[in-house]
Amino acid sequence: MMDMFWLNDAKQAWQGMINKGIKPQGVIINGAQGVGKQALLGHIVPVMLCANSNEQACGTCQSCRLNQSGHHPDVLTVAPENNVVKVAMIRQLTDFFVSTPHCSEHKIAVIHQAHLMNTSAANALLKVLEEPPASGTLFLLSEAKHHLLPTIRSRCISLDVAVKHTAIPALKDWLMAQNMAASDVDAVLPLMAGVPLAAKSAVVSGLLTELKQFLDDCAAYIEGQVSTVAMAKKWHEQMSMEHLMMWQQYNLLVLKHRQGSSDHAYWLQLKLSKLLKKQSQSADLIIKVNELIQGLVLKFNTQLKKQLMLESALFQFKELILKG
Ligand SMILES: [Zn+2]
Repeated sequence: MMDMFWLNDAKQAWQGMINKGIKPQGVIINGAQGVGKQALLGHIVPVMLCANSNEQACGTCQSCRLNQSGHHPDVLTVAPENNVVKVAMIRQLTDFFVSTPHCSEHKIAVIHQAHLMNTSAANALLKVLEEPPASGTLFLLSEAKHHLLPTIRSRCISLDVAVKHTAIPALKDWLMAQNMAASDVDAVLPLMAGVPLAAKSAVVSGLLTELKQFLDDCAAYIEGQVSTVAMAKKWHEQMSMEHLMMWQQYNLLVLKHRQGSSDHAYWLQLKLSKLLKKQSQSADLIIKVNELIQGLVLKFNTQLKKQLMLESALFQFKELILKG
């Protein structure tokens, strides 16, 4: 993986603390999904574990080798199940922190998606943070740190990861250096709000191409070249939550353009965008369309009759555009 330059500020902030002999016991790594929180953690943790260095992991000591194997006894990782971090998971941490480290100076616990802790888990975690073990460091990865209890936040330092707007040209270069076409990069960045790994994954996985095809199909459908049934039949199986989110984001880009934004050129030249903007009240229209997609999002994982559901949504979408 190429060097993720946008992580440098956070890396330097961390190293600065280590150099001053400060070792925080609670660290919140906060940023959007796909911004590189795990990559930052993957930079910090090996150095902490290494027996030979506090700036770069040597890769050869016993502790480094255990970490590379993914089974380091001084590292515990907790991740949500069914979108909840539960209290039993946090109690594991308490037990883990009781013992002294086996083969490094630290005991490191990582909670993925910490913003998904329920109340009892958050209270249990607070107890851990109130009496932290001397050797322990707890990393909370979060996409929404404001969802964490203020009493948890106040006991942690925060490493925020984001790509500054001024770094977008450098981010384009970074993506293009990984064999991505300039047109794909121009299309995907505004769609994924400039979040690097999310953008990369949308291109590599084919989601971007599929979304473009879907929007082109929508234009043909609205112009009467395809029937509702044929359109729903084609899309109901391959349509995923990711497509729906991207479709919403596309609508917002078209809306933002009306309000004076300009770097969405790729999406504005689509036929569907022109149909959306033909309406005198296109901002209202786009908001209604997003409500329609939101309805699909809410029902998507529970609804068995996906084709019928999509037919109905597409029909309403067409009515909205044609009748306003
Ligand atoms: Zn080492």
